[in-house]
Amino acid sequence: MSTRTVLLATSNPGKLRDFAGAAATLGLGIAIANIPNFSSLPQVIEDGATFEENARKKAESYSLAAPGELVLADDSGLEIDALGGAPGVHSARYAANQPYSAECNTDDEANNARVLREMRGVPEEKRTARFVCVLAAARDGTTLATFRGDVEGIILEAPRGQNGFGYDPLFYFPQIGKTFAELSAEEKANYSHRGAAFRAFLKWCEQSFDNQSSADQSFG
Ligand code: IMP
Repeated sequence: MSTRTVLLATSNPGKLRDFAGAAATLGLGIAIANIPNFSSLPQVIEDGATFEENARKKAESYSLAAPGELVLADDSGLEIDALGGAPGVHSARYAANQPYSAECNTDDEANNARVLREMRGVPEEKRTARFVCVLAAARDGTTLATFRGDVEGIILEAPRGQNGFGYDPLFYFPQIGKTFAELSAEEKANYSHRGAAFRAFLKWCEQSFDNQSSADQSFG
């Protein structure tokens, strides 16, 4: 089987690890690599109101730096029901002062501390949340398709586990009785929002890799 390479527009090593792990697990002959010199490209400002808006913006813009290549960008985050869907599109900068600056992320520890503070006293049955991931696939500045994955869980009262990144230690996944920070890379690829969106993307690749039509599609 020949291997096709998809270029990932991210500087987040956690995401690259998740996608590369999922691609390897599924063994469909698709390799994931970073866009060459990604860190030297002008940064796309993630100021969209939805995950999809941000993912499309990133995929379209960064695909211009790799002519003819299929470029994948994601936007993802945590939606907590008791907080009205926050941190949502602001997940990467939740600990910052408002109004949020789309250019200024805050560190995971501070973001998790804010979530714990705001969820203090919220009873277990109201601690429901989901991770959401939207992927956009673009070539030469045009989005070809988008894919969405989500996974439901519960926000714990204290962090648990050492793996993963972001809000993983707070996100308890009842189906297997672990937080996302207690999952191996393979388990995370199986269960996560990113894994679900990525599998939808791979299915689309299988069906349409050779079809370079720019008809816009949504999946997942
Ligand atoms: P993005 O880079 O704009 O997609 O920001 C995503 C932010 O959402 C990250 O910085 C994390 O805080 C959070 N997030 C997204 N996916 C995950 C995940 O799989 N585990 C933990 N946190 C995540």
